[in-house]
Amino acid sequence: MYRFFEQLGSRIAAPFASGPSRNSKVWACRCGQALFFRNSQCLACSAALGYQPVPGRLTSLQPADSPETWWLDADPQAGAFVRCANLDTPAACNWLVPAGEGQGLCVACRLNRTIPDLSLVENHEHWRKVEIAKRRLVAQLLDLGLPVIAKREDEATGLAFDFVGTDLQGRNPTTGHADGLITLDIKEADDAHRERVRVQMGEPYRTLLGHFRHEVGHYYWDRLIAGSQWLGPFRRVFGDERDSYAQALERHYQEGAPTHWQQGFVSAYATMHPWEDWAETWAHYLHMMDAVDTALGFGMSAREMELDYQPFPLETLYDPTHPGGPMFLAFVNAWIELAGMLNELSRSMGQPDFYPFVLPAAVIAKLHFVHLVIAQAGGRAEAVVQSQ
Ligand SMILES: [Zn+2]
Ligand SMILES: [Zn+2]
Ligand SMILES: [Zn+2]
Repeated sequence: MYRFFEQLGSRIAAPFASGPSRNSKVWACRCGQALFFRNSQCLACSAALGYQPVPGRLTSLQPADSPETWWLDADPQAGAFVRCANLDTPAACNWLVPAGEGQGLCVACRLNRTIPDLSLVENHEHWRKVEIAKRRLVAQLLDLGLPVIAKREDEATGLAFDFVGTDLQGRNPTTGHADGLITLDIKEADDAHRERVRVQMGEPYRTLLGHFRHEVGHYYWDRLIAGSQWLGPFRRVFGDERDSYAQALERHYQEGAPTHWQQGFVSAYATMHPWEDWAETWAHYLHMMDAVDTALGFGMSAREMELDYQPFPLETLYDPTHPGGPMFLAFVNAWIELAGMLNELSRSMGQPDFYPFVLPAAVIAKLHFVHLVIAQAGGRAEAVVQSQ
């Protein structure tokens, strides 16, 4: 852990000299200024910036031959790009689209089916927050090599988002997933509302990004597990999803989670039904991968971490004989160490815990299962774990 601080220190003192690593969440403008994922203009030299979703990098832009088109400083050979048509909307999208593709909307914005009612002034801010979280989600899915297909391009297997508020009859929408459509109650972008619901529901953690990672887990269950060779193994690990969902929901809200649920599940909600267990575990996998990846981008090395707790052994994994097992376990152990440190940092600021969860051995096995599914589907998850 001490070495992490030393490395972080040197990283801050001499940043970006060696060029961005694969993990980088920090890039450099042509003027040398550090750039972060959300930036659309350099704060130092005012250069226009854009995010290229594949291979996943933020770069300063040079005006190209025709109006509103740009070359990438990071890769001048990559051709001409336009900035996403949602750049100058409340979504403030800083992503790039290859010139002549996608009707001006980037791969993340093309997923929107319904955007919030912008005649309501509060929805401008809410939509902005929603899009920041959604771009973070989509960037990670692409980084893992997972297919990100818009419903407007493939109705049957694509993904779409509805960001909606109360309807004309005064009914509130339900946040959830059905057949590739993710619905988000736009009130979830109101911090006061979301915090109130979090306390009411007794949840330790409730964020827009968390919602998206959970709901997209249901989408990828349909794509990657249903009807695949993973279905039998899924049922052995998570249970039989053919159990009545309606009854499970009813039981969960009447009786709550079973006692000792912490030994087998990542959250109380995960105990409700195998589908929810999958979505909760999937969301945690994405949280862990993103956080460890970011820490690695700042110079942390998981291999050099000095664990001050008993690390999980190989037998904890879903498939202990898998050749990537030791790497995955190193990643999990690095995460637990990192989360422990970040929790202490949060407490030193009087903030709630950064990661208010405990991962028992049974959940490590489930996370490994999710990892193997994603690695097979996207071909990139092993590389992310190995880059430690
Ligand atoms: Zn600059
Ligand atoms: Zn966009
Ligand atoms: Zn769910």
